[in-house]
Amino acid sequence: MDPDIQRVFQLQQKRAPELALLDHHARIERLLRIDRYLKEESHVAELFDAMQKDFRKHEVEVIATEIGVVQAQISHACKKLRPWMKPQKIKTPFPMMGTSSHIVHEPKGVVLIIAPWNYPFNLSFVPLVYAIASGNAAIVKPSEVSANTSFFIKKMINELFDESEVAVFEGGPSIAEELLEQPFNHIFFTGSPQVGKIVMAAAAKHLSSVTLELGGKSPAIVDSTANVRKAARGIAWSKLVNNGQTCLTPDYLILHESICDTFVEEFIMAVQDYYNPNGLGIENSPDYCRIINEHHFQRLKSLYDDAISKGAEALVGAQFNNSDCFISPTLLGNISDDMDIMKEEIFGPILPFVTFSKPGEVVDIIRQKPKPLTLYIASKDEGNIDYFMKETSAGGTVINDYMLGYSNPYLPFGGVNDSGIGKSMGVHAFKAFSNERSVIRRNWGTLSMLYPPYNDRIRSLIQLLYRWM
Ligand code: NAD
Repeated sequence: MDPDIQRVFQLQQKRAPELALLDHHARIERLLRIDRYLKEESHVAELFDAMQKDFRKHEVEVIATEIGVVQAQISHACKKLRPWMKPQKIKTPFPMMGTSSHIVHEPKGVVLIIAPWNYPFNLSFVPLVYAIASGNAAIVKPSEVSANTSFFIKKMINELFDESEVAVFEGGPSIAEELLEQPFNHIFFTGSPQVGKIVMAAAAKHLSSVTLELGGKSPAIVDSTANVRKAARGIAWSKLVNNGQTCLTPDYLILHESICDTFVEEFIMAVQDYYNPNGLGIENSPDYCRIINEHHFQRLKSLYDDAISKGAEALVGAQFNNSDCFISPTLLGNISDDMDIMKEEIFGPILPFVTFSKPGEVVDIIRQKPKPLTLYIASKDEGNIDYFMKETSAGGTVINDYMLGYSNPYLPFGGVNDSGIGKSMGVHAFKAFSNERSVIRRNWGTLSMLYPPYNDRIRSLIQLLYRWM
C-alpha cells in the first residue's frame, strides 16, 4: 500500500466538513481558478504538446473536445450553482398537513475520479468541476496510458489546489486498486465495462455510491428515407474524430439495403474531403490523429484480421502502419455476427456495417447486444424514428446528427446497464456528487391520534389518510 494514498485520503476526510460549508462564492472561486489556468497561453501550449505526444491530436480537436468542454461546464456550473445549492421546497400532501418538506443537497464527502485515456483531460476535469461544485474533496486518478496528459493534469492540480482539497495520483491498475481500498463516499469512474465491474465490486466493500460512465457498441441506423449524404458525412466525421477512440462514436452501422451503395460512396468522398483534400495521403494529414499505442493498434489489427478471415470485405482503407500506430479509415461490409468486431467495442477508425430491409430486423440486431451508450437514427420518417425509440433502450439517442449527446449541459449524459450506471453533466452531475437529503419539519399539529392502543377508528383513519396521499 502506498502510504501517501492513505495519508492524503485521511487529510481529505478531515478537510471535507469544512469544504461542505463553502458557500457558492467560494466554490465558484475554485472553479474559476481552473478556468483562469486554461486561459493562459503557456498552459494551453503545454497541453497541446502533451496531447500531440500522446495521440498526435490536432490543436483544434484539443480545443473542441478537451479544453472547450471543460470551460463550458465551468461556465454552466458557475451560472447555476446558486439555485442548485438552494434548499428545494417540496409539495406537502393533504394528510401531512402541519408539516413542510424540502431537499438539501449536501456534498458526499471525499470522492474518487478515475479517468480513461481517450479524452484524458476532459474526462478528468468535467467530473472534477462537479465534484468541487458540489462541495467535495477529490482524488483524481488519470490514465497511465495517456502519460503526457496525465503528467500535465497532476502539475496543474498541484498548482491550483492544496492536496487536502484535490489531489492526483498517477499510475495504472495497481494504484487504482489501492485507491479503491479507501472508503470513498462516491466513485466516479469513466472507462470500460470490464473495469467498471471491478470498480463496482470494490465500491461494494464500503457501500460507496458509484457513477459508471462506460462504453460499448453504439449503433447508427440509416433508413431508406434518410438524407444519405448528410448521414455519411456526419458518421465519417464523428467516427474519425480522435481516430475513433470515442465512447459515443458510431461503433457499427445498420444501413437500409436501398441506400447502402450511395452511403459507401458518400462515406469515401467525405473521408477524402476531410483528410486528403490535397492528395497528399491521409497519413500525412495533420488533422488525422493516431491510435494511442501499439497495444491498441494490435488489438484493432486482430479485430480486422478476424473479420476478414470470416468473410468481411474492406470497401475502403485497411492500411495499417504499426511504426506510426496509423490505421486508415476503414469501412467493412459482408459482416456476420460471429466476427469479434461485432462483439467487442471497436474504439478505432474501423467501421463495419450490416444491412436491413424491414425495421424489425434493426430492432433484433440492437436487442441482441447489451444496451448501448448512444443510438443514432438517421431518418425522415417519424413513424420509423418512433418505432426505433420505443423498441430499443439506450443511454441516449441522437436523431439526424452525430456526437451531440455530450453537448447539452441540461441533458443527463450516461449509459444504461452495460454502458453505464448514473448520469453526469450539469445538474445531473451536481446531484451525482451530492446526497439529496430529505428534510421534513412539523410546524403544527400531531400524529398522536394514530398512536396505540389501536382500535377500529385508528384503522379507518389510517386507510383514509393513505387514500388521500
Ligand atoms: P479502462 O477501463 O481500461 O481504464 C479506465 C481507468 O481505469 C484508467 O484510469 C485505468 O488505469 C483504470 N483501471 C484499469 N484497470 C483497473 C483496475 N483493475 N481497477 C481499477 N482501475 C483500473 O478504459 P480505457 O481503455 O482507459 O478507456 C476506454 C473505455 O472507456 C472504452 O470502453 C470507452 O467506451 C470508455 N469510455 C466511456 C466514456 C463515457 O463517458 N461513457 C468516455 C470515455 C471512454
